[in-house]
Amino acid sequence: MYELPEDVRMLQDLAMDFAMREILPWAEHYDESDEWPWEIFHKAREVGLVNVNIPEEYGGIGASVLEECVISESMAYACSGIQTALMLNQLAILPLLIAGNEEQKRLYLPWLVDDGKVAAYCMTEPDAGSDVAGIKSTALRKGDNYILNGSKTWITDGPVASFFAVFAKTDPDAGHNSISCFLVERDWPGVSASKPLKKMGQHAAQACQVFFENVEVPAENRLGEEGDGFKIGMKVFDKSRPGVSAAALGVARRALDEAVRYAGERTAFGQPISHFQGVGFMLSDMAIRVEAGRHLAYKSAWEVDNGIRNTMSAAMAKAFCAEAAMKNATDAVQVFGGNGYSKEFPVEKLMRDAKIYQIYEGTTQIQQMIILRELYRSS
Ligand SMILES: Cc1cc2nc3c(=O)[nH]c(=O)nc-3n(C[C@H](O)[C@H](O)[C@H](O)COP(=O)(O)OP(=O)(O)OC[C@H]3O[C@@H](n4cnc5c(N)ncnc54)[C@H](O)[C@@H]3O)c2cc1C
Repeated sequence: MYELPEDVRMLQDLAMDFAMREILPWAEHYDESDEWPWEIFHKAREVGLVNVNIPEEYGGIGASVLEECVISESMAYACSGIQTALMLNQLAILPLLIAGNEEQKRLYLPWLVDDGKVAAYCMTEPDAGSDVAGIKSTALRKGDNYILNGSKTWITDGPVASFFAVFAKTDPDAGHNSISCFLVERDWPGVSASKPLKKMGQHAAQACQVFFENVEVPAENRLGEEGDGFKIGMKVFDKSRPGVSAAALGVARRALDEAVRYAGERTAFGQPISHFQGVGFMLSDMAIRVEAGRHLAYKSAWEVDNGIRNTMSAAMAKAFCAEAAMKNATDAVQVFGGNGYSKEFPVEKLMRDAKIYQIYEGTTQIQQMIILRELYRSS
């Protein structure tokens, strides 16, 4: 695939135009205020750039993962914090799209499509992030309900979400086969959340802790069969990681563009700094990372869209693009010299925003573990 299909390119143009007009001018404001970008969210909804993976029969546009990638990359180019905040619904509803029944979809998808609400994805706990099987939240069956107890942390969009996809164990002493996934409404008794957590970057994408204390969850809110949760979680990653990789790519590309522009204008020793090989080769390497990362991310998206198992390519894309974003942002700061360290210039924010890609949706080390496992699986 050396050229995007026409309709995907049109979506890319729409997303890039939106990103430059409606996101970029506000990036600094949301970075400084730590507010959730409601106004931008509503504008993006109006033009059809959020909830894009919801199928047409439920009011969405039924975007492919590749289409999600071009939107994510474009928006993250302008501000990856705002992009994360806006696109999180798509992660949160993946369990519902993958394992939900008709009734569950008809009930909850309109919350997003018609009512403009937000959902969040609750897997990580204070004592279990990479080790998903180690989660301690429990959902014990009692008649027609499950009694949900536990606490989740780092829940992106948690502060503004109206419902959550929550992973918990139906047997606290068992391993990953006892994990199930439930849709839990924020207003239900026993559900509460902390204030937004203070963090390094992506300030517009607020995250918090979410607590469940003896929450009565109707059995009909369980997605799939009891014990399906781990499998659902892994399927989610295959679909979500290409988009996260593409978002990281947006940051890597922005860092490249900013560095190229600056190095062409800034002079030292009587010439533009881009003429010095020490700077110029940094720019070349940044460009290589963007190009290589795009091939990995888009190929992985194409695979999952075409029913091809993409666990390995999604892990490769996520690992590579995350490292590319961090390295490009760090090198862009270097190219800017002292100005790179200043909040008056854009690359300092890029460096703070980029770091999270090496951590969320599975750390780089976890992607490496998956790749290693897949290497032996296919041999
Ligand atoms: C800003 C932000 C937003 C997030 N949003 C969400 C969200 O919306 N929903 C959600 O559920 N979670 C979310 N997360 C959680 C995120 O997915 C976890 O932080 C991540 O999976 C890592 O888990 P951990 O923090 O517990 O680190 P740990 O698992 O404790 O890992 C610590 C370190 O050990 C390394 N490590 C662990 N195990 C291994 C191993 N086997 N081999 C090699 N190295 C290993 C890791 O790579 C890491 O470097 C978010 C996190 C952040 C910071």
